[in-house]
Amino acid sequence: ASIDLMPSDVPPSNRVQDRREPQPEGPRDGFRNAPDSDPSIAGNRAWAAEIRARMAASTLGEETLAAHTLRTLEEVDAVVDGAVAAGEGWRALAPAERAAILHRAGDILEARRAELLEVMGSECGKVIEQGDPEVSEAIDFAHYYAESALRLAEVDGAAFEPVRLTVVTPPWNFPVAIPAGSTLAALAAGSPVILKPASQARRCGAVLAEALWEAGVPRDVLRLARVEENELGRRLVSHERVERVILTGAYETAELFRSFRRDLPLLAETSGKNAIIVTPSADLDLAAKDVAYSAFGHAGQKCSAASLVILVGSVARSERFRRQLVDAVEGYEVGMPWQAAARIGPLIGPAEGKLRRVLTELEPGQTWVREPKQLDDSGALWTPGIRDGVQPGSEFHLTEYFGPVLGIMTAETLDEAIDLVRAVDYGLTSGLHALDEDEIARWLSRIDVGNAYVNRGTTGAIVERQPFGGWKKSAVGAGTKAGGPSYLFGLGTWTDAPVAT
Ligand code: GLU
Repeated sequence: ASIDLMPSDVPPSNRVQDRREPQPEGPRDGFRNAPDSDPSIAGNRAWAAEIRARMAASTLGEETLAAHTLRTLEEVDAVVDGAVAAGEGWRALAPAERAAILHRAGDILEARRAELLEVMGSECGKVIEQGDPEVSEAIDFAHYYAESALRLAEVDGAAFEPVRLTVVTPPWNFPVAIPAGSTLAALAAGSPVILKPASQARRCGAVLAEALWEAGVPRDVLRLARVEENELGRRLVSHERVERVILTGAYETAELFRSFRRDLPLLAETSGKNAIIVTPSADLDLAAKDVAYSAFGHAGQKCSAASLVILVGSVARSERFRRQLVDAVEGYEVGMPWQAAARIGPLIGPAEGKLRRVLTELEPGQTWVREPKQLDDSGALWTPGIRDGVQPGSEFHLTEYFGPVLGIMTAETLDEAIDLVRAVDYGLTSGLHALDEDEIARWLSRIDVGNAYVNRGTTGAIVERQPFGGWKKSAVGAGTKAGGPSYLFGLGTWTDAPVAT
């Protein structure tokens, strides 16, 4: 079977009603977020149906991938040397030239939206409802970092020196937006990139790289690498000529990378164990919907997912909110992304280890409010699970599972609930559902996470509006947020040399 990596021939339907036309070359009229495809437009529903049909028909294979497979230590060294050398030309471009290429990349990603959705579905199990905003985010990164690159060049009295080589190691759960964001940021700053997609998301990585090459990024400035042996991966990320490694993945992976090299220049966004607090002043209908979607969207496989809901005071004591939550979850069909009704897709693989355990076993004192059920033989399709009675300090309170299971905790007061959030080592996202302004102010003053959301779910950060990044153990060597005004600063250094004009 061959894979078609050419631009999709899925008809564009009437999505133009809903969509910004590519802008002409030249100065843009400022940054605007790309709109998602509006499913209330009939043409968009037909368009999505066609993408699902293509997902169902697509056969996974690897043979046409443009990735360069690194098989020996010498090959790793050669790719590193080649990228550093090619980077000289890329750095020498005027920032406006790099920005123009990035803007073009954003337009090409928009034009390839259908193809990206197809590959995300067939390769990674992403349903269109989840994949479509992810493509928008990738497009946003292109346009946003293009504008950021221009601002880097505007600073008086200091010159920005980009790092000489960036290695990007993204995860499979956001197989387009995360590699796109990291890669585009480095390119915008003026650094060449070696992109090593997650092994479960190679085709997504290939379509992304092709879009960037098509936009004008030279192939030796952006290298798509495939590394199968751990020893070679280790050489790649710890190579002394690599000046920045952008990792999104588990905290343990960041630790592993750091064990390779003492001064590893790592920028990592890692794990999360995120909670939403619901107080008696909340709009409970809204809270139930937001908690359910944050917990079970993409089967909970997001580091931003809500894994705990902490009910305060009378919300904790009554059954009402628990019932609303179950009602919200009942509406989620679980299935493969090419099945029209599926809102929750499969896990990336069969549930194993601690994830299988948490889907099948309770800890002492816990009960199922809704018991998860395995729907397929392979063990990747699970209905959402909700457990009550999660105890402070228990494994469930403190551990990331990355799957479709939500735990309920209770607290007498808002401060007690905040203490439960603060007890977690990670600090990525957190939510508060409350309409009382004093409660909101109190929560904001005490909460210790990177992305704090009031009366909104905890997933789906939006470029420029909600830059994304963690605190505590959710970030390693970072301090800047993806999609925010200072992200590029981490991809180079400022020197005092006056800028030549
Ligand atoms: N940026 C994504 C969000 O806000 C999460 C990224 C991740 O899970 O790694 O939902």
